[in-house]
Amino acid sequence: MSASTDPLDAVVVGAGQAGLSTSYHLSRLGLDHVVLDAEQGPGGAWQHRWDSLTMDDVHGVADLPDGPAPGRGGERANVVIPRWFGDYERRHDLPVVRPVRVTAVEDDGDLLVVRAGGRAWTTRTVVNATGTWSRPFVPHYPGQETFRGEQLHTVDYPGAEHFRGKRVLVVGGGASAVQLLGEIALVTDTVWVTRSEPVWRDFSSGEFDGRAAIGLVADRVRDGLPPRSVVSVTGIALREQEQEAARRGAYDRRPMFARIEPHGVRWADGSSETVDVILWATGFRPAVGHLAPLGLRTPHGGIRLLTSSTDVQSATTAADDPRVQLVGYGPSASTIGGNRAGRAAALAVQRQLRDDTRVA
Ligand code: FAD
Repeated sequence: MSASTDPLDAVVVGAGQAGLSTSYHLSRLGLDHVVLDAEQGPGGAWQHRWDSLTMDDVHGVADLPDGPAPGRGGERANVVIPRWFGDYERRHDLPVVRPVRVTAVEDDGDLLVVRAGGRAWTTRTVVNATGTWSRPFVPHYPGQETFRGEQLHTVDYPGAEHFRGKRVLVVGGGASAVQLLGEIALVTDTVWVTRSEPVWRDFSSGEFDGRAAIGLVADRVRDGLPPRSVVSVTGIALREQEQEAARRGAYDRRPMFARIEPHGVRWADGSSETVDVILWATGFRPAVGHLAPLGLRTPHGGIRLLTSSTDVQSATTAADDPRVQLVGYGPSASTIGGNRAGRAAALAVQRQLRDDTRVA
């Protein structure tokens, strides 16, 4: 299937916080673009978050440009944020097309071709804003396939009631593991395992240097390493909602087990735990498989970005192809980061188009 002949200035892939911010700024710059999003409706990954995650539970959602974020409260985040994004798309007349799942971005000389099934768009630049939610990561442990109980990932979390009466092993040391334990430990018996000792932080103490932490994530993408989550360098905190689970001992972690058996897990020292459920809160990987034809991945498995030492969250340009921007990737993988990166990416697109014209 051939692509349309009239090339766009940019195709944005993904309509989460990062994609919407990018589209807003591209529109302000007068750049001709579309936003292709795989979902049926607005909301990015937020529409798939579990029902018990309320606006009081989220860590904090940054404003969109000219679009103040909804406040806190007991309403479900998977309702409030999709509604906010939908209003935002309409108010700013953003050119979102859905559902379109991009399957490949190909190099076509001076242009790029973005493919989705039988459809294709030609464009001068691509801004990738696909997040991570569609690529849940589950590590492999010996014996995993022999487990007779239930295994699920954060993306499948059905709410704490599902686990009542079952013994639940939660794997992972990030914010999701902490939140899910905070709920599940109130209704049933839990065991927590993490690869390394969690870094507990008191974010209210003022000692924490968030900029420096995000700088560590930026260093990895500059070096072409797979990005780590921002939480992996900021550490985690127990909030009011998790205090009761903490009192019940839910956060007394054990180190990672060595193998999985039909009825539980076993550590290298021979000790074991019998469990009914393994809940893998083991994170996500960037959803960038459709960029594979461009050959941007380094042998280390990441995509190298050009980073500046002054504003690491504005690192968006692929070092090996400046026609491609990545937002919500590496140091910008948070709502505030996605927002800033959206502006930086739109400006980088504008620069790229000017450079193109100069060459031509
Ligand atoms: P997403 O919101 O994931 O949007 C990506 C969009 O791209 C989706 O609509 C997806 O369907 C689409 N897409 C993916 N692949 C394709 C494709 N091939 N073709 C077309 N479309 C595609 N951050 C915070 O700052 N505060 C929080 O409180 C917070 N809570 C979190 C809670 C959980 C459980 C998790 C997992 C993350 C949380 N984060 C939080 C991180 C946060 O989700 C992200 O930083 C931010 O919302 C991601 O925005 P995004 O635009 O990068 O991606």
